[in-house]
Amino acid sequence: MSIPLRQKVRVGAYLMSQRLRHIDKFPLVLQLEPLYQCNLECAGCGKIQHPDDILRRRLTVQQCIDAIEECGAPVVSIAGGEPLVHKEIGQIVGALLERKKFVYLCTNAILMENKLDLFKPNPYFAWSIHMDGLKDRHDASVCRDGVFDKAVAAIKEAKSRGFRVTTNTTFFTQDDATSVRDVLDFLNDDLKVDNMQISPAYAYEKAPDQDHFMGVERTRAIFKEAFADGRRKKWRLNHSPLFLDFLEGKVDFSCTAWGIPCYSIFGWQRPCYLLSDGYVGSYKELLETTEWEKYGRGRNPKCANCMAHCGYEPTAVMSTMGSLRESLRAAVAH
Ligand code: SF4
Ligand code: SF4
Repeated sequence: MSIPLRQKVRVGAYLMSQRLRHIDKFPLVLQLEPLYQCNLECAGCGKIQHPDDILRRRLTVQQCIDAIEECGAPVVSIAGGEPLVHKEIGQIVGALLERKKFVYLCTNAILMENKLDLFKPNPYFAWSIHMDGLKDRHDASVCRDGVFDKAVAAIKEAKSRGFRVTTNTTFFTQDDATSVRDVLDFLNDDLKVDNMQISPAYAYEKAPDQDHFMGVERTRAIFKEAFADGRRKKWRLNHSPLFLDFLEGKVDFSCTAWGIPCYSIFGWQRPCYLLSDGYVGSYKELLETTEWEKYGRGRNPKCANCMAHCGYEPTAVMSTMGSLRESLRAAVAH
C-alpha cells in the first residue's frame, strides 16, 4: 500500500464531491511556502536566490490558515526554503491538523532532531525529507558534506518516536537507473520509510547549476529501466500508478497545475510552484485569471522539460478517478 488508506478515502471522497458538483478545476494539494530562507544552498534550487529582505520575510500563522481555508485542498505540503527555520512552524502545522488536513512537512533534516519535540505523531502528519541519493550523491546535490548522515539519523529518530516519515528525491543528469534503484532500495528496505516521492528536477531559471536538468526522453528511459524487475511494485512510492506510468513513458498527460497551487509570501503563484509568471491575491483569482492552456509541455518553452508531480500528478489522479480499472489498480498496487 502506497498512500495511507485514510488519506486515499478522504481524497477520493473529496474528488467525488467536486465531480458531483461539476467543478472542473480544484486544488488537491496546497503547496505552502511560508518562507524562502534556507540553511542550505543547493546548486539545483530555484527558491533561495531572493535578496535578504525577501529571505527575512515569513507568512504568519493566520495567513497560512487563510490560504488553506480559501482553497480547501485536503492535503498541504509545507515547503520553502526550509520550513523548520520558521519560528512558528509548530503552530502552522498544528492549525492545519486541527482542520483535518493531511500535512507533509518538507525539510532538509538539518534542524529536524532539534525540532522534533514541536510535533507529535498524528495520522494526518508526515515528515517529507529531502534525500537526493546515497551519501556522496546527496551531499554533492545539497553542496555540503555530512547532510546525508544527519538526515538518516533524523529519519531513524523520528521513526523511533512513531512519526510517519516519507522522503522526496529529485533526480538530475548525474543519475542513472542504478543510482535511482540504489537510493530507493536504501530508503525502502534499509531505512524503511513509510513512503517515497520522486521527481526529475525542474530546470529552474534561477538555479546556479543549469547543466544537470534531465530532458523528457532521458527521464523516461531512466525510470523505465529503474522500475523494471518488479521494483516499482516493491517500493512504497507516494504516487498514483498512472503518474508512475507517465514517468516511464507508458502514458502522456497534459499539465493540470491548478491541482497543486502554491501560496507564498508573494501570494498565489502563477501557474505552479516551479514556474513564476506572477502572483495574485486569491486562489479564486488564480483559477479565473490564469491562461491555463498556455502551460504544459508543448505549449510553453519554460515547461519543455517538466515532468514534475505538481503538473502531472493531478492529471493522473483525475484519470484514475475516471476509470474503474485504474481505480481498482490504484487501490491494490502499482
Ligand atoms: S534544501 Fe531545498 S530550499 Fe534549501 S537550498 Fe536545498 S533545494 Fe533549496
Ligand atoms: S508543465 Fe505545468 S507543472 Fe511543469 S512548469 Fe509548466 S506549468 Fe508548471
